[in-house]
Amino acid sequence: MLFKEIIGQDETKRRLLQMVKDAKVGHALLFTGREGCGKLGLALAFARYLNCEDPGTDDSCMECSSCRKYSKLVHPDLHLVFPVVETKSSGADPVSDDFISQWRDCVLGNPYLRLFQWYEYIGIEKKQGSISRKESLQIIRKLSFKNFEADRKVMIIWMAEKMNLSAANKLLKVLEEPPPKTVFILIAEDASQIIPTILSRTQLIKIPGIDPESMGRAIREKHGITGQGQVEGLVRMAGGNYLRVMEAVNETEENRFHFDMFVSLMRLCFAVDVVGILAWIDKMADRGRERQKQFFQYALRIIRGNFIQNIKAGNIDLLSEEERNFSDKFSSFVHSGNVFAIYNELNKASEHIEYNGNSRLIFFDLSLRMAKLLKA
Ligand SMILES: [Zn+2]
Repeated sequence: MLFKEIIGQDETKRRLLQMVKDAKVGHALLFTGREGCGKLGLALAFARYLNCEDPGTDDSCMECSSCRKYSKLVHPDLHLVFPVVETKSSGADPVSDDFISQWRDCVLGNPYLRLFQWYEYIGIEKKQGSISRKESLQIIRKLSFKNFEADRKVMIIWMAEKMNLSAANKLLKVLEEPPPKTVFILIAEDASQIIPTILSRTQLIKIPGIDPESMGRAIREKHGITGQGQVEGLVRMAGGNYLRVMEAVNETEENRFHFDMFVSLMRLCFAVDVVGILAWIDKMADRGRERQKQFFQYALRIIRGNFIQNIKAGNIDLLSEEERNFSDKFSSFVHSGNVFAIYNELNKASEHIEYNGNSRLIFFDLSLRMAKLLKA
């Protein structure tokens, strides 16, 4: 991660750079800030800058041996700690190292990562992860080694509020007598959950939400959204949290995909175009079960909207403008004679996907039934 890759936060960047230039980097820093402000990215950029062999005035060089390793988060003197939980593959009482390659992939893909996304990534969304006592012992052990190559060893602890009490107490000892040439960077969303004895031994770096101007620039440059009203709306909605922008954009793209797929499936069903249906299924089969299920949810909503339109039971704010245009013609095919059967077929197909049925067969079957129902 480089400073220039982090959205906004100019003030914090300046402060961190100044600390390095003045040789006033404390041995333990605590980065706090709300979700989506970029604190993890800033911590990684700062760690990289600390060890860059040829740092520029405002960012790492990108060329040196340290930078090359940091860019993949594989530097031997960079240690990464984050909440984990026992999974089928991890074995009992796991530590961060058991998940390190997944965490690297996850963070490099999205440095604005929120805790729940990480849990989802490793398939533990129903459990609560933590940073355990065993992890603290591991930290102490790692810090007892001499530095491999870097001037400063960096220990990053992400979501430090997830340290349990015994882990925190263990860690406290190291923070009281820090090993030489080591910098701790704790990252937390909620500093009030960190025990006061740890808090008092760290230098606080409070990171605000992303300022509106930088957020607007990121929306234009990273997502190609240029309409002024649209950009302003997104900036307002985000309230300094870039994750919200990412989610809104994804949702729009996903919706677009579902709309196109739904419209084309209905056309193919009308035409009973089996070759076309098979090509459609190929496209859908790549999407994974979760998104296939989302497609059914989408289709159910559109069918509902069209039925309401057909029976003129009220205005259909269920549908977007584009969906309403489609509905002008399509709604006459969704009526009281077939709406329950269509509903039933979509729900059944969604359930079969959920229970790991063969998605190609499920979609094919559904298409044939839909072809029949739409002509009923
Ligand atoms: Zn460098």
